Amino acid sequence: MLRRSSSQWTSTIQKSRINFEQNSANSQPEKKMKLTDSENKCPLTFEIRAECSTTKARMGLMQLVHHHVDTPVFMPVGTQGTLKGLLPQQLEDLNCQIILGNTYHLGNRPGPEVLDKAGGLHKFMNWNRALLTDSGGFQMVSLLKLAEITEEGVKFKSPFDGSESMLTPERSIQIQNSIGADIIMQLDDVVSSTTTGPRVEEAMHRTTRWLDRCLSANEKPHEQSIFPIVQGGLDPVLRTESAKQLTQRKVNGYAVGGLSGGESKEDFWKMVHLSTDILPKNKPRYLMGVGFAVDLVVCCALGIDMFDCVFPTRTARFGCALTHSGQLNLKQGQYSMDKKPIDETCSCSTCQTYSRSYIHQIVTIETVACHLLTVHNIAFQMRLMKEIRQSIEEQRYPQYIQNFMLQNYPNKDYPEWIVHALKAVNVQLL
Ligand SMILES: [Zn+2]
Repeated sequence: MLRRSSSQWTSTIQKSRINFEQNSANSQPEKKMKLTDSENKCPLTFEIRAECSTTKARMGLMQLVHHHVDTPVFMPVGTQGTLKGLLPQQLEDLNCQIILGNTYHLGNRPGPEVLDKAGGLHKFMNWNRALLTDSGGFQMVSLLKLAEITEEGVKFKSPFDGSESMLTPERSIQIQNSIGADIIMQLDDVVSSTTTGPRVEEAMHRTTRWLDRCLSANEKPHEQSIFPIVQGGLDPVLRTESAKQLTQRKVNGYAVGGLSGGESKEDFWKMVHLSTDILPKNKPRYLMGVGFAVDLVVCCALGIDMFDCVFPTRTARFGCALTHSGQLNLKQGQYSMDKKPIDETCSCSTCQTYSRSYIHQIVTIETVACHLLTVHNIAFQMRLMKEIRQSIEEQRYPQYIQNFMLQNYPNKDYPEWIVHALKAVNVQLL
């Protein structure tokens, strides 16, 4: 399967290079045409509806082309145009308003030509709500050991036939234009969060240069918003410089990237805090790759509005259920006779119907167990975000944080980074 995927990626790149040249020769007359009302319309509006008076948390409404999104929001990851184990209708039933698709995987299969013919991923997968796609760069650098970054783009060799190919900023946006997501990400120069030295500075400046190339390449600026990505590793000076460079561009929202990759939690929260201090207040801020419940609660307090992570769905496939007081590993023998649902306070279809004992019997053996746990874990993430939004709206987010942390750490053995991060936004744990 991998062989087919990788050769498809290469051939679609070659074909679309030809298409791209043909298109640009014909694009002049279109540019002279007067913009219609729909073309003048901004594809993203963001309204802050409530602000926490103690922390930097905000509750808002983001209006996108396909659907509105209540923020702060957690976006489940649907790698290949599907969330493993769930149908689009089930995601709607779970009140999920936006999901994330991986450009690297979608670029391989079904590929841009199939998506163009289908009229975009929304129609292809029958998902009528909002979508966000990543640039494909992170997946490429993390999945393909042979990837090499040059000023032109990410150069990689097929792991099978050794042929060379290139993901450029233009190519990433071209594929994302075919997918048709409401929010698309710039190609950034990805370095590991634990990398130090001149490479971090080089990547930060290159990320800004690549942003400008991505913005020029976007053929659907009135339907799809490109989010730039704040880089700069764990260096406060570089992060500040990166955020300042990006805010000089005309964009509808921002992402904070290059974190959640093995750095210390102290470094992690400080970089988030610093980034949200610089990014404009009136635009949504997306923290990439973060999805643990405690991290979501802390980072909302630091002023983040959007999150994504594969963790809730991946851990479901390994038999783990998320709850307000931590994780249950349903493979463990202690659940073999346990007639309780995963969570008695959860209203998801799994908790309403099945016992821990039943799930224990079939976990990691039957695909239905993966399905049942995925439903519950997505329901958990959606409920957590709803609680966060409501408590911000009702001006009781600091108390919500205190109670949440006490539930997770009943012995008050709070990790130091959580204490420090919350102290920075005026919250003292009980
Ligand atoms: Zn449940």
